[in-house]
Amino acid sequence: MLSFFPILYPDELLYSGLARYHIRSGNRSFKQTDLELFGYSSQQVCKVTLTNNLNHLVNNLSLLSQQTINNLLQKHTLYPFYAILLMPQEAWLLKSSMSKKINESILEVAKMTNGSGGNSTKYLKFCHSCVGEDTQKYGEPYWHRLHQIPGVIVCPIHRIPLNNSLVPIETKEIHYHAPSDDNCPLNTGTTIYNDATLQKLLVFANDIEWLINNNFTFQGLSWLRSQYKTYLTNKNFITVFSKDKFIFHEQEFYNAVLAYYGQDFLEAINPKRIKNPDKYLSNCLLACDLNPVIDRVMHILIIKFLANSIEDFFKAQ
Ligand SMILES: [Zn+2]
Repeated sequence: MLSFFPILYPDELLYSGLARYHIRSGNRSFKQTDLELFGYSSQQVCKVTLTNNLNHLVNNLSLLSQQTINNLLQKHTLYPFYAILLMPQEAWLLKSSMSKKINESILEVAKMTNGSGGNSTKYLKFCHSCVGEDTQKYGEPYWHRLHQIPGVIVCPIHRIPLNNSLVPIETKEIHYHAPSDDNCPLNTGTTIYNDATLQKLLVFANDIEWLINNNFTFQGLSWLRSQYKTYLTNKNFITVFSKDKFIFHEQEFYNAVLAYYGQDFLEAINPKRIKNPDKYLSNCLLACDLNPVIDRVMHILIIKFLANSIEDFFKAQ
């Protein structure tokens, strides 16, 4: 049993609490911390945001601890984000994979792409103002869960862009770094957005926050595709000739999406710069149930454009 474990702060990423444990434990190596907390070193590349073997951790907390696996999953990991477009049995499988020690890849179970490699290395993000306020309030800064969610690139509380820290995510390397002056440098070039783009980024961040806090039952990607087809037909982006024959006007659709969000917003949300965005959108819309990975951010963008409200779209299920 662990002799202590930090109480997690509001919206704190579990990894952040583990990093604070590492500091207080005085352990010299991250591996020692891994063994104490989880009984082994996980090789999962997404363990920073989708930590696994939570059973071991929770069973080793003090008997007085009120912490549960479900609370950790729902409030302190990115599980609710990846569960958004999973059917109940798939979400259950992801939950189960994060609860135990597993050999298969959590990336595959969560149907997510591995963004690491090439130039797309991702880092934990932070808000300068949150770091300052948390240090004043709690005596130390911590990594916020919401800031790490794909598609969230501004702090909804302070209405300013988030910055990349120097702490990589999606890595097999074991590390537990709490935010510090060294890994959250003040002088990183903060992107400046115009007011209209900033406002759209804030609305988008709030939409994603709403989605992860509402446990609705998703009916599956075939349902999603059929909803898309209905919306596209109603908005004249699809011309139907017969039951199985239709034309999708992909260039017109892409132009309308671009006009709705604006180039700056789309580049901010999607820095990877997808080649042939019209074809990519077309694939998300009409072949989403055939793809082994789910681009959640792109689907949320499409849903918001088609229905004008994420809430209305999902409540119509
Ligand atoms: Zn903030």
